[in-house]
This record gives sequence, structure tokens and C-alpha cells, in this order.
Amino acid sequence: MDRDILIIGGGPAGLSTALHLARDFPNLVSSPQGTSRILVLEKARYPRPKLCAGGLVLDAEVILQKLGLDVSEVPHVDVEDIHFDFRAKGLNIRIPNSHALRVIRRDEFDNWLAEKVRGKGIEIREEITVKNIIPDQDGVIVETDQAMFRAKIVVGADGSNGVTRRCIFPNAPVHTARVLEILTPTYPHRSTSTSPIFRSSLENGGGREGRAYFDFFPVPNNIAGYVWDFPTQVKGAAMRCWGIYDTNMLADEKRPQLKDPLAKEMSRIGFKLEDYEIKGHPIRWFSPQNQMSVPRVLMVGDAAGADPLFGEGISIALGYGAVAAREIGKSFQKNEFSFRGYKSRVIRSALGQTLIARWFIAHVIYALKWKWFQILLWRVMKPIVAFAGWLLVLNWGKRL
Ligand SMILES: Cc1cc2nc3c(=O)[nH]c(=O)nc-3n(C[C@H](O)[C@H](O)[C@H](O)COP(=O)(O)OP(=O)(O)OC[C@H]3O[C@@H](n4cnc5c(N)ncnc54)[C@H](O)[C@@H]3O)c2cc1C
Repeated sequence: MDRDILIIGGGPAGLSTALHLARDFPNLVSSPQGTSRILVLEKARYPRPKLCAGGLVLDAEVILQKLGLDVSEVPHVDVEDIHFDFRAKGLNIRIPNSHALRVIRRDEFDNWLAEKVRGKGIEIREEITVKNIIPDQDGVIVETDQAMFRAKIVVGADGSNGVTRRCIFPNAPVHTARVLEILTPTYPHRSTSTSPIFRSSLENGGGREGRAYFDFFPVPNNIAGYVWDFPTQVKGAAMRCWGIYDTNMLADEKRPQLKDPLAKEMSRIGFKLEDYEIKGHPIRWFSPQNQMSVPRVLMVGDAAGADPLFGEGISIALGYGAVAAREIGKSFQKNEFSFRGYKSRVIRSALGQTLIARWFIAHVIYALKWKWFQILLWRVMKPIVAFAGWLLVLNWGKRL
């Protein structure tokens, strides 16, 4: 047996699982001989790129604080307010005495988190790719591009395209969102317009500077999601991160183009999409039907299912780490590794409650795709939407 606990993937879900194990079950970290009982296998080398807008909601910060970590150590931009729009009018969210969102770059954030894991005496092996996972009665065989490992249990934290799910649930249905992302310089920027009014509205980003924007204007065109525009920084230089998220809930066989609505939104502020590099990556989202474990193998983060409503997955990944560590710790105490009931314990946790609420809300607000409903939602029912968001979508990290 090479290791007791093998974590596949060193993103926020895998690293959070390791950190929660170290906090709550320190006896699982190292053997009496001093060797690490937990091993994280990561296919890339830190700091590794990860396509992500890097918006951290306050729940992520709460989970990290409970681990004794202060994310302000990572370079970041604080966003004072979040704006939910439908065609340039909508709902503004501010949080009293706090930023509303903190934006980090994932190469820096994940590298920082990995350092914290190493600081707890947990080994991380980089540049090793897992190829196959074979659970049996007594353990799990993990085949990689370099060596074969055997573990008592495996945590699949390998993201939306991960190998864990493919190995243990080869035929399970998948719910996957399409996401595109672009980085541009921040406002103000060069404008080709000669109109002074147009120029001045662009040069402060049309009042958007310092805000995070979510615009749901593509919904009536069968894109079940939004276009976003966040402030960010890259190596200290102020930038904007743009993108489009589509759950695919409204797509029939012919999926609508994502580039056009993104280009339209960028052009409103004077940016040309074709001037910038565009990147895409799927997000596997949570559905109550998703399977999450088999005996000796459980999944966390995108591998188990991220937020369907906004595709917000960092706080969710950190939350899965807390629930999975509890499950693993108890299974070692009982020496019983079936993980039967893991999914229902996820669903009953504060994490599961927010995931269920988001899944339900996504099915309502994207299914009712008509323009009149979106106007009603984002412009007329603002206090109700803000209250429901506060109650059902946010504030779960404290209860985890
Ligand atoms: C364009 C885009 C924008 C996003 N913006 C936001 C946002 O602003 N806020 C937010 O909260 N969420 C956002 N998300 C979602 C967020 O990025 C994910 O939900 C989050 O990264 C999930 O964390 P994870 O640890 O489960 O998976 P990942 O972060 O994907 O980590 C998985 C890790 O596993 C490793 N790995 C994969 N396969 C193997 C293998 N075979 N062997 C070894 N290692 C392996 C990978 O290298 C990676 O390090 C965005 C996603 C996308 C695509």
C-alpha cells in the first residue's frame, strides 16, 4: 500500500480536502515513521495556469478563514459592488463594511494553497498524470504516466474533465456548461469614436470601473447564462476579465454561438473581441442525479458538480473539501470505506443546500427565458431577488 489517501488533482477541491484533513484528523497526515499518509498527484507544475475569472465570493473567504488562512496574502482586486443586469439595467449588490467579491488569479491562488498544504507536511507530486483508477475489495490501484500507486482510498479532485469520473462512472449522464473567457486592458482605453460623449462614457467604462458585471441579455436567445466583466490584475497590471457562461439548459441539438453575445457586450464599452485571445473550458455542474462515490473512491469539486446557476466553483470546491474530509476521517475511524451515504451527507450539508437551491433557481430563471420575465426578475423584483440570493445562495460557508 503506497498511501492511505490519494488525492487526484491539486486545485481548490483537492487542496481543501487535504487542508481539512490536516485540521480535523491530524493523525491521518503522517505515519508513526513520519511518512505522509496523504499524497496529492497533480498533472501540472505550480504556479500552473487555470482558465477561471477568479471571482471569490465571501463564502470562500469564510472557509479559508476557518482553516486559519488569509487570502489577502494572494495578489487580488477587491470589487465593491456586483451588478446583475438585463440589457443595461438591473440590480446592484453591496455588502456593508466589506468588499462584495475578491478577484484573484488562479495560478497565484492555487500555488499559495499548495504551499499551505505542504506546510502541513502533506506531500504533493507535480507533473504526474493519472491515467486509470481501479477500485477493488482492499484498495484502489491508480495508474499514472510514471508509476503505479495503491491507496486505501482515492479522492477524485481532477476537475470537470477529470479521469476519476470517466473511470468510475463511464456511462453516467453529464451536465456541462460552456464557458469562454477573454482578458483585456482595463478602462480607460483607446477609443476610436469621435463623439466626445461616447468617448467619456467609455473612458470610465460607462461607470463600470471597480464593479463586477453579470448581464443576462443572452437568455432569451437560448443561452442559459450571462456575460460577465470583472476587474482583475495580471502581475500587478490592472486588467478586465470578460466571459460568457452557458449552462446548456436551453440548448437543443443546435447550440447557439457564444462569441456573438460576448462580442456585442464588449463592443458596448469599445472593445473588439477579435483583438484578444479567447479561451474556453467546460464546467461540470451539480445536479441531484450526479453520482459522487463508489466504495473507496469519492469525488469533490467540479468532478462532483459545481454551481449550475453562475458556474461559481471555487467556494464550492473549498466546501466539498470540508465535507469530504469529514467523510474520510470517519471512514478511517470505523475502518469502513464504502462511502455509502456520502452524497446524501453532501446534500444535507450547508454546501448541498446552496447547490440544491442554485440548481432549482437555475432551472426556473433560465427556463423562463422570455424578455418580460428577465425584466421582471432583474429590474422589477429586485428586493425579492436580493433577499432570496442572500438567504439561499450566499452565507452558507459559516454553516459548513
Ligand atoms: C472560464 C471559467 C471562468 C470561471 N470563473 C470562476 C469564478 O470567477 N469564480 C468561481 O468561483 N469559479 C469560476 N469558475 C469555476 C472554477 O474554475 C472551478 O469550479 C474550480 O476550478 C473547481 O476546482 P476543482 O479543484 O474542482 O478543479 P480544478 O480547479 O479544475 O482542479 C483540478 C486539478 O486537477 C488536475 N488534474 C486534472 N486531471 C488530472 C490527472 N489525470 N492527473 C493529475 N492531475 C489532474 C488539474 O491539473 C488541476 O490542477 C470558472 C471556470 C471557467 C472555466
